[in-house]
Amino acid sequence: MGSISDQTVGGLISTGSHGTGIAYGISSSEVTALDLVTADGRVLSCSETQNREVFRAAACSLGVLGIISTVTIKVEPAFNLEAVQTPVKLDDILGNLDKFVNSAEHFRFWWFPYTDDAVTWGANRTDKKLAPAQESWLRDKFLGHHLLETLLYASSFVPSLLPSLNQGFFNLLFATKTTTVDTSYKVFNFDCLFKQYVSEWAIPM
Ligand SMILES: Cc1cc2nc3c(=O)[nH]c(=O)nc-3n(C[C@H](O)[C@H](O)[C@H](O)COP(=O)(O)OP(=O)(O)OC[C@H]3O[C@@H](n4cnc5c(N)ncnc54)[C@H](O)[C@@H]3O)c2cc1C
Repeated sequence: MGSISDQTVGGLISTGSHGTGIAYGISSSEVTALDLVTADGRVLSCSETQNREVFRAAACSLGVLGIISTVTIKVEPAFNLEAVQTPVKLDDILGNLDKFVNSAEHFRFWWFPYTDDAVTWGANRTDKKLAPAQESWLRDKFLGHHLLETLLYASSFVPSLLPSLNQGFFNLLFATKTTTVDTSYKVFNFDCLFKQYVSEWAIPM
């Protein structure tokens, strides 16, 4: 599961959407069969054993093969996750990428550009008691959303603001280690806050 769960299943599959975890594939890799309504109105059943090439292509097809009308997905019983977020120096992460990537079932890290600071996030299945993230209007809404959005907007006119802006927000909001335990989707998903332009790259590890 990625950072939102508002998508349709058809959209999720067709864009190759993904979450994180070294032992996990993209969301499409959990699909075992699907039906496509093709341009000539036929229904094409696809799986590893039936129309295999189309099935493989449909895993990231942006709708060009037809409309996905039914999907069979592998599932597992609902689970909780314990997530630990830790401030770490970027050089430490890059120098020990194997160790970090394998340190949790689900791992990701964020770098704060123009600084040497980063945050690691690792989540594992747990039976521990729920300990959801504590919400704070001042931290989450005022500082972490509205003020940040305003200052980022200002930095699009004055780019030289960005280094100190990123360092300031790292120090203010991400410099301490936090641990939460919650239902899986609440841990995987996070508020993407405001409108943003995103470019996604894949780099060999
Ligand atoms: C705030 C935000 C956070 C996100 N976070 C992540 C993330 O963490 N990880 C990640 O991988 N992605 C992420 N995404 C991307 C998101 O998963 C994709 O944009 C997804 O496609 C959205 O699904 P949708 O139902 O809105 O599809 P749409 O945007 O409606 O469609 C996307 C594509 O799929 C095709 N399509 C849709 N339905 C079907 C169908 N039934 N049959 C055939 N083709 C179809 C459309 O033609 C189109 O090409 C994020 C997006 C947003 C807006």
